[in-house]
Amino acid sequence: MATSRSETGKPAPYKPRHPEKTPFFAVLYHHFDEFKAAHEERFQKEYGRWRAVIDKVVGKYFQCGVFLGGFARLKCPDCGAEKLLALSCKTRGFCPSCGTKRAVLWAEFVQEKVLKPVDRRHVVFTLPKLLRPYFKFHRDLLPHLCLCAWNALGEYFKASISKDAMPGAILTINTAGEFLNWMPHIHGLVACGGFLPNGDFESASAIDAKTVRELFQAKVFSILLEKGLIGHELVEKITSWKHTGFDAWIGPPITDTKEIVQIGMCTVRAPAASGRLIVDDGPRVKYFAKGTRPDRDIGGLFGPPSQSLDYLDWIARLTLHIPDRGCQLTHYMGVYSNAHRGKQADRESTPHSDASPGRARSEPEGDWIKARRKSWARLIQQVYEADPLLCECGSKLKVISVIEARTQSDVVGKILVSIKFVFEVFQLPAHPPPVPVGSPEPDSGSADFYYF
Ligand SMILES: [Zn+2]
Ligand SMILES: [Zn+2]
Repeated sequence: MATSRSETGKPAPYKPRHPEKTPFFAVLYHHFDEFKAAHEERFQKEYGRWRAVIDKVVGKYFQCGVFLGGFARLKCPDCGAEKLLALSCKTRGFCPSCGTKRAVLWAEFVQEKVLKPVDRRHVVFTLPKLLRPYFKFHRDLLPHLCLCAWNALGEYFKASISKDAMPGAILTINTAGEFLNWMPHIHGLVACGGFLPNGDFESASAIDAKTVRELFQAKVFSILLEKGLIGHELVEKITSWKHTGFDAWIGPPITDTKEIVQIGMCTVRAPAASGRLIVDDGPRVKYFAKGTRPDRDIGGLFGPPSQSLDYLDWIARLTLHIPDRGCQLTHYMGVYSNAHRGKQADRESTPHSDASPGRARSEPEGDWIKARRKSWARLIQQVYEADPLLCECGSKLKVISVIEARTQSDVVGKILVSIKFVFEVFQLPAHPPPVPVGSPEPDSGSADFYYF
């Protein structure tokens, strides 16, 4: 990753990040076709049917940050230097680099457009292991899980604050555990109370985790029963356990907007981090726990927590978390919802009743991000602390043209030949013999950590 600041503290010129030199890229690049061919026999039972969205997202990722996908041509008006800047894939829930940029944009969006200056809490809703697979094989249920969390919070607040006070929350669906095991859970940034019609905020004294958890549990059961996926016997069995496996973790109140946004950013970026994956003996790859640095922390008797997987198992884990097309992962509820923010914008912008309603509709996240993403140079600077438009001579580079391989593959090809571009992907050790069918399942990772 190109993260260098000059000694003056100003951003340094951006250096290409070369994702193709990482094991993360290389495993996919060298073994994705093999994974796809083996999917039905080896992975379908545990991971579900092949999804077309996997081909699409991985295909785009292969062209992210590498010149093959296209580039912007930059030229310095002073020294005449020319540079190419590779385009990015902008995929959701997969590409670590684009996920980080997306998280930066999201943070700007919620700070500017959504969050109100009241106490909020970070909350996390989790499910028993026994129920998690239903959300893997019926992914359309994931947004319902979000709704269960929201309704549990809403019902709780209804009983503890004024009837006309409306709560607000940003809820995000996450499907990955610490080592990318399947662990659907909901992260929420929740206003600790409700907003009255006059705009005042009414605080709720505390949020009782047990009550919220019980409400959430009842709602999840009712959805699975309604869909005919489970029977009443299973509900009785789980509720008879001392620890049902349902949880509603309620964090302390947070006043500082930056702090709550930082927490939120961790829940909206891509599930996997490229820097946490290294090549292991075997040949396999090793994925490290959050907060550890494989390049720095690897010594010692035990080393930091990690899991070793063969190449295809790793790809299966990684691609499991690509969201289905059209599946909204972040939901804005109550006073934070689009509709409510739109009404409020109407009120604020139309003091006279003859103004047409809906005129000042609040922008949804997607539109806002699309518009803001156009300032890509600023975004790269924020993520990599390096300025893509800064020439080595200190002047500002100008964008001459943007050439996408999707529409102008011949032009891309010609330019790459002219600069003698060679695409060299990181070389992995040879692949181990395939696992015979019927051999024990590899450890599917039961670690019960939230992924941040
Ligand atoms: Zn220059
Ligand atoms: Zn990307």
